[in-house]
Amino acid sequence: MIIILKETATPEQISELRGAMVARGLVVQDIVGEEKHMMGLAGDTSALSQEGLERYGFVDRVMKVSEPFKLSGRHFHPEDTAISITDSAKIGAGSFAVIAGPCSIESEEQILSIARDVKRGGASMLRGGAFKPRSSPYSFQGLGLDGLELLKIAREKTGLPIVTELMSSEYLSEFERDVDIIQIGARNMQNFSLLRDVGRLGKPVLLKRGPSSTIEELLMAADYILYGGKSNVILCERGIRTFETATRNTLDVSAVPVLKKKSHLPVVVDPSHGTGYWDLVYPMALASAAAGADGLIIEVHDRPEFALCDGQQSITPVLFDKLMRSVTAVREAVSEQ
Ligand code: PEP
Ligand code: MN
Repeated sequence: MIIILKETATPEQISELRGAMVARGLVVQDIVGEEKHMMGLAGDTSALSQEGLERYGFVDRVMKVSEPFKLSGRHFHPEDTAISITDSAKIGAGSFAVIAGPCSIESEEQILSIARDVKRGGASMLRGGAFKPRSSPYSFQGLGLDGLELLKIAREKTGLPIVTELMSSEYLSEFERDVDIIQIGARNMQNFSLLRDVGRLGKPVLLKRGPSSTIEELLMAADYILYGGKSNVILCERGIRTFETATRNTLDVSAVPVLKKKSHLPVVVDPSHGTGYWDLVYPMALASAAAGADGLIIEVHDRPEFALCDGQQSITPVLFDKLMRSVTAVREAVSEQ
């Protein structure tokens, strides 16, 4: 629901109304336009009526928002959101970020060497899984907290902010303290208690689209995080499950402009998981940049044939360098249009 206030509404009246809405357990988002002040309300608004609200003399009218997502939607927040980690790592509202690194952290030598490679290539953030959501319980599960320590060493040596997946609320405090962007993996996109927990931390969250989730479900999951009022969200298209078997997943490139239309949040694409094959990563990364993505997340390994996880979809540092140059050229070509 959006409450449109009269131009004559005073700051005291606005704060009185805000207080009354917060007391009902609603999340209030101010939408300040050039002429009008509006208030977006998220939560259970079923007990609020148009007539009741218009009894506040400074309320002009009330608008129902039919979409089931509110805080991630453009009605409540028309401007693009920019998320800034450091001066050189910004994403959204015109800033493009490439997050690159191995699927999993395997050793200090491995993560350091790849971190240096991707930094040289122009990545602005480093990825690496410490806790791995593997389909088989017999596959490598990641180094856990030891892996996180190695990732921190790589950050210290390269200056690259770190992005890594949190699989359960057990390690919330370690992630809050140590990680720059908390990744919520595709399989956990609808783990609502985990979403609520990360929403209370105040750390940016990279939320990956579930393999069988619609765009609307992705945005509702983002609302769970935003509802906590503290954490910002980066949306990630990483391929969906379809009848096609030639690729690991079907990368939904059209999700990029659709998400950009519906939401103010930055959108990144993961062509590594989105295709499952290293030789498809380059063309799909370019397609994603052309489609208007705000960034990419790419798996890079210096020896993909020996990778403990996802080697078949990891590109080498040499191909990563080429990809970065081409992505820049594509972005320039698109912005000239
Ligand atoms: C990952 O990024 O390493 C990963 C497991 O991704 P997803 O959750 O998209 O499968
Ligand atoms: Mn992976």
